[in-house]
Amino acid sequence: MIKIRLRNQVNTVNLAASLAEELSSIEVMPIIKNNNEIILDDTSTSKSLSVEEALQYVRSSLEKSKIDYRCIYFKEQTIYIEDSEGREKITEPPFFFCPFCGYSTPYEEVYWIHVKSHGVI
Ligand SMILES: [Zn+2]
Repeated sequence: MIKIRLRNQVNTVNLAASLAEELSSIEVMPIIKNNNEIILDDTSTSKSLSVEEALQYVRSSLEKSKIDYRCIYFKEQTIYIEDSEGREKITEPPFFFCPFCGYSTPYEEVYWIHVKSHGVI
């Protein structure tokens, strides 16, 4: 079975979704493993998928799902995609701090109910 390795988890999910569409005609199922690995399950096909064939599907799926990648290569049965790591910045949820006691919450409604409970506003 052919394996596809990526770097980015989001890209992996998107690629698997796109591959599922592309490969449905030949009855190959992409299965996500370890968050950044896709296994092309060709056990239900009459003729197993070659790496070269898989590579073509992977290329067109990458394009369809608009995944940025630097290069793509394969070693034996594994296709490696050097995709971009994606934005490392984790968008932190806004936190509201009570100026009176330091209580914090990510929920604005809860915050205002809390602040009002001090009886100041
Ligand atoms: Zn408070």
